[in-house]
Amino acid sequence: MHTDAPGYATTRHGRAPAPGPSFGNPFLRCRCGLAGLERIHRRPWMKFLPGLRFYRCSSCGKPQLAPKRAVRDAVIAHRSAQQNER
Ligand SMILES: [Zn+2]
Repeated sequence: MHTDAPGYATTRHGRAPAPGPSFGNPFLRCRCGLAGLERIHRRPWMKFLPGLRFYRCSSCGKPQLAPKRAVRDAVIAHRSAQQNER
């Protein structure tokens, strides 16, 4: 009979991610929307992510990965919406 439980009780929560110049996780997108993203150079490991491109938000400056198609569609929709405002 095994009474030794794995040491889950010793797991600590609340370790805050270290703030840094990379703005944290590139897989997390900011809330400014895809239309304001600018293409920037990818890191070497990002070539293993087909379909994703590396962008920087022109509003808040956060670098983030996003699908190329989604960004293109968002930019097109954004432009057409601006034209409709006239
Ligand atoms: Zn942003």
